[in-house]
Amino acid sequence: MQSVERKWEARLNVAHDDKMDDVIEKYLNLEDVVLESHPGADMSRIRAAFEFARNAHGPQLREDGTEYITHPLASAEIIAEIGLDEDSLCAALLHDCIEDTDVTFEDIKKHFGADVAQIVDGVTKLSRVNYTSKEEEQMDNLRKMLIAMAQDIRVILIKIADRLHNLRTLEHVSEERQRAKALETMEMYAPIAHRLGMQKIKWEMEDLSIRYLDPAGCKVITDDLEVRHAEDESFFRRVQTKITERLSEHGIECAVNGRIKHIYSIYRKMYGDNKVLSEVLDLYAFRVIVNDITDCYNVLGYIHDMYRPILGTFKDYIGTPKPNMYQSLHTTVIGSEGLPFEVQIRTWDMHQTAEYGIAAHWKYKEGKGGKVADEEKFAWVRRLLESQQDSDAQDFLQALKIDMFADEVFVFTPSGDVINLPAGSTPIDFAYSIHSEVGNKMTGAIVNGRLVPYAHILTNGDIVNIHTSNSAKGPSRDWLDIIRSSEARNKIRQWFKKEKREENIIHGKMSFEAELRHANISQEEATSEDVISKVLIRTSFNSMEDMYSAIGYGGISAQKVVNKVRDCLRAAERTKKKDTLLSRLEKKEAVQAKGVLGVTVEGLDNCLVKFAKCCSPVPGDPVIGFITRGFGVSVHRQDCANYIKAEKSEGEAGRWVRVAWADAEGQTYTTSIQIEVRDRKGIVVDIATVLNVLNVKMSSFTARDSSSGNAFVSIDISVKSRDELISAMAKIMSVPGVTDVRRGEG
Ligand code: MN
Repeated sequence: MQSVERKWEARLNVAHDDKMDDVIEKYLNLEDVVLESHPGADMSRIRAAFEFARNAHGPQLREDGTEYITHPLASAEIIAEIGLDEDSLCAALLHDCIEDTDVTFEDIKKHFGADVAQIVDGVTKLSRVNYTSKEEEQMDNLRKMLIAMAQDIRVILIKIADRLHNLRTLEHVSEERQRAKALETMEMYAPIAHRLGMQKIKWEMEDLSIRYLDPAGCKVITDDLEVRHAEDESFFRRVQTKITERLSEHGIECAVNGRIKHIYSIYRKMYGDNKVLSEVLDLYAFRVIVNDITDCYNVLGYIHDMYRPILGTFKDYIGTPKPNMYQSLHTTVIGSEGLPFEVQIRTWDMHQTAEYGIAAHWKYKEGKGGKVADEEKFAWVRRLLESQQDSDAQDFLQALKIDMFADEVFVFTPSGDVINLPAGSTPIDFAYSIHSEVGNKMTGAIVNGRLVPYAHILTNGDIVNIHTSNSAKGPSRDWLDIIRSSEARNKIRQWFKKEKREENIIHGKMSFEAELRHANISQEEATSEDVISKVLIRTSFNSMEDMYSAIGYGGISAQKVVNKVRDCLRAAERTKKKDTLLSRLEKKEAVQAKGVLGVTVEGLDNCLVKFAKCCSPVPGDPVIGFITRGFGVSVHRQDCANYIKAEKSEGEAGRWVRVAWADAEGQTYTTSIQIEVRDRKGIVVDIATVLNVLNVKMSSFTARDSSSGNAFVSIDISVKSRDELISAMAKIMSVPGVTDVRRGEG
């Protein structure tokens, strides 16, 4: 011990005064605690960390006037009590170096390795958490963030130790800070300690905090307890002795101790359930710690034999552990004095877990071997907590599912609000999450006090401050490539949409054209009236300008528009091909049809066609075909009496086929007309003259008298179409003496 002392004196070159004595005493205490749980521990690194921290903090003092180093020392002692490893102890000693001295991350890494440096860095970031009491949602975020930030559970444990020591020495700070720290502890750190199963620390935190939060309410309790103190002590002794004696009679090795329940739990029962101290049922608690689980249940039997159990108070947390791994048997009994008290029965292992929770499972590693990767350590914690099933723990289980926030990052506003962003977010994302105006007027970003580029990737716990100016140019298009949050994306697009139509149109047109080149589509093709009108309809823009503008501000991607252009071009191409094919096919049909008198028969190629004599149709007449037996298809007018009659005959219904006039230019068709005339000389010449004028060829002419004195003239003429036939008939009708003209009916 002497050599250690001398070494510091030489190194620190400070007077050997009382303060220094005190510091060295405290350090030696720490060594004792470490050696107690880990007899073979190598002290050299821990000592080096102590010296390093002492030098770094130098003459800094705490509010209570002690050297600053006493605080890291005390935090390290708590870590040693918990039984954490060497790295944790070094980190605890160094935990305020980065925050409060000139020491950097690199310095620590150089002297103590990357692990220690990272833990210290993690604690530093947690310390920057600018906590103010918030709505539950914010609290939840904040707790999540702490866990997510920690990355290594040791960071949280050191932060808890740090906080515990600060609470223990809180009396020296201002009342305002006392309340703030106490509240933060109640809302943040005590719940975390609880969920990590660190009951001992949780209780101490709560008891210390409530004293500052409700001094008057606490005083009622402590005064009351003070009055009963002597009496209580003797009660504890009596019960303790009685139990110990009884158990040793039965050969059970045990440790029994009694205590008053911690103040905050009494406080909650009194003020929460509106009771006075004497009404609080389980004010007294005894703990019986034994070697194995069988003994636990044996002890329970003896206790129930000695004291009358209160019904419904027995709880078996050995069979069903609490979510935070707590295991014990609980029972409340009534003592001979009529005082009820709770007995908790557990093994030493369970006791360790009950006091230190997760940390109890954090085995100190003597050697360097068997190092577990951080990720694995966390996975272990996670599995552990997930395997528990208790609705009470749900909220925190959520918070501990680290991998659930692997895609999230939590950062702070300068006023300490937690902002939750997608992982990989930049200060731009942050700015837009605050308000679109902050983003639009952004001129620079300060992260943790340092100016950073816009593309800087934010990490958990960063404090982000955005500089804005009314003369800011507004977002740049490049930002869209940097940002990660859809919120920022939407807001930036919105801005471009509103602010920069002209520019958007130019940019949009350029992107569109670039994309066209990329797709190997010529601009002329793409912007032809035909194509663009279809594209506009399909993208629901009113004009090319609107479309360009939207591309410009990112409302639609140029690629998407070009895809539509390509679709339209393909469709047009297809139609064109189809038309070509069709017309070629039709031509072929027409050629065939010409050979068979300008009629096509549906479903039949090359069949023999003839025109029915009965109605002699001409092109333009609605026609129908009849499949004759052996003479091909006979074409009738649809108003042909024979057809009308025959259609109704069932046996032949299937033989009518649809036929159509084909384009057969120059072809003429012979049909007959019946003309009724008043018997008049020279009328036949007149009719022949009219037809001659029309250039309609007449091939036969028969006339017969009718009984009424009129005459019927039947002529056969050759016409190209129904139109020609009708005009010929009209002309004949206009010949004086003609009283009627009609188509021949066979
Ligand atoms: Mn500290």
